[in-house]
Amino acid sequence: MSILFKVVYFAQIAFIIASFLTVSATSAEAEAEAEAEAEAEAEAEAEAEAEAALVNSDGKPAVHGAKRNSRKAGICLDYGKTRFRNGRRYHLIEPTRTITSHEGIDFCKRAGTPVFSPVNGTVRWVEQDNKSYGGVVAITTGFAVKPRPGIAQSQVFVEMVHIVPVLGLKRGHRVQVGQLIGHVQKAERPNIGSKPHVHFAVRWCEEAATCHLDPNFFWRDGPGIVSCFDKSKALPNGRIVSPVPC
Ligand SMILES: [Zn+2]
Repeated sequence: MSILFKVVYFAQIAFIIASFLTVSATSAEAEAEAEAEAEAEAEAEAEAEAEAALVNSDGKPAVHGAKRNSRKAGICLDYGKTRFRNGRRYHLIEPTRTITSHEGIDFCKRAGTPVFSPVNGTVRWVEQDNKSYGGVVAITTGFAVKPRPGIAQSQVFVEMVHIVPVLGLKRGHRVQVGQLIGHVQKAERPNIGSKPHVHFAVRWCEEAATCHLDPNFFWRDGPGIVSCFDKSKALPNGRIVSPVPC
């Protein structure tokens, strides 16, 4: 083989290898791009789905209701239900409005039953014992929702009402899902009714009284599937578990 021939021969091989490397690099890039695109699309889809599920076409919060584990979890009055007392529709009258449908989920449990944090979050406020409705713990979650078209993303918080908060729990404390935050209170306040229970609400604002969402949308195991705390199961951001053992 002449030297010239050898040079040309190796140059040709080098060229072939180089083109192959370029082609494979380009296709890997294209693949990564397509993957990122597909991911962004899936994310946008999931977001649209989440938004659609939070509101109806009339802009009012959607009602999902508890479809599974309702009895096991001790639910005695679901979100969106109307309450009747002595055959008449029950109205809870607040200073600015009359409430006719239930804006949370009631878990009927014996007084003294432990109450857990249903999320990882930060204590928003603690009310030790209000004369009318008893004790409350509110926790800010790590997720936000777009509650209605035209309203900006808002941080979600949860409220556990008619409970005796644990001593020393203060605004700003970090809490983990499943952490003890209080105990079910005795039914000895005018607005608890005749049965001890935890009134559990999911809200996106404090000011207006109309910013409740159906907690059933946020269950760890999927909308409508009431999910019990289980330390072996991870809690994805944006999801919650029952505030009482079940
Ligand atoms: Zn209630």
